[in-house]
Amino acid sequence: MAIASVTGAGRGIGQAIAVALAEAGHDLVLNDLDEAALAETAEAVTARGRTLALVPGDIATDPAAIGARMAVALGPLACHVNNAGIPMRTRGDLLEGGAEEFDHVLGVNLRGTFLLTQAVARQMASEPVPSGSRRSIISITSASAALPSPERGAYCMSKAAASMMVKLFALRLAELGIMCHEVRPGVIRTPMTAPVAARYDAMIAGGLTPVARWGEAEDVARTVASLASGAHPFSTGDVFHVDGGLHLHRL
Ligand code: NAP
Repeated sequence: MAIASVTGAGRGIGQAIAVALAEAGHDLVLNDLDEAALAETAEAVTARGRTLALVPGDIATDPAAIGARMAVALGPLACHVNNAGIPMRTRGDLLEGGAEEFDHVLGVNLRGTFLLTQAVARQMASEPVPSGSRRSIISITSASAALPSPERGAYCMSKAAASMMVKLFALRLAELGIMCHEVRPGVIRTPMTAPVAARYDAMIAGGLTPVARWGEAEDVARTVASLASGAHPFSTGDVFHVDGGLHLHRL
């Protein structure tokens, strides 16, 4: 049975990814800040008949240990998903804001994600390459990896760097049959975007995206499940946009 792991799986996109992977037949290793945050997702996964292990913890403070535990909790991983991520606590002028906010955002979205991935990849690399099956590490970045928003600079920088992280792991891990994919969501309706929902409502109504609607967490989850299935066996280091065409430039 294929085993997949997901960080930040308690709600939003991470929860939808866990459910989609469970529906596709994966057993799941789930991380979020604490066990209580994972209760709803755990119930959804077990309701689909899948086996489950919980590895709660803050990926900013203990990334290598969390990654190492996730990688062995149920057995060898077929797929690991880096989903946990945080927005800026406050949006503001790029000329303001100090080191604390920068370190906070980069600590989760880049440093924690990188060190956790390193631990997962080290464990996957130590295992025999399974015959006939594909292994993958899938990272959820953001349209903000490429589209600058000066009022939330640290977030944009964290996601741009996470995009490079995917390419680096793709080069390092290809010979081990571990495909590394970047999934880059646009504006997705989750608890993260709830505080700015009215602003995005207006932007979408004003033509922000060619596909004129909010993205849903399930839109992202379907793409991740497709990548985890091995349906893209000759792709690695690529960006898969899930943004209704937000990234397209117009003339
Ligand atoms: P969300 O609703 O805030 O969910 C994020 C989950 O990650 C929460 O359960 C959160 O726990 C958990 N988490 C936060 N920090 C963590 C840490 N240090 N260690 C472990 N878990 C942690 O966010 P989302 O909208 O689903 O976003 C998921 C990913 O997609 C993020 O990487 C985000 O940057 C990216 N993304 C989102 C959008 C969007 O429009 N929503 C667009 C582009 C990219 P708590 O609930 O306890 O805080």
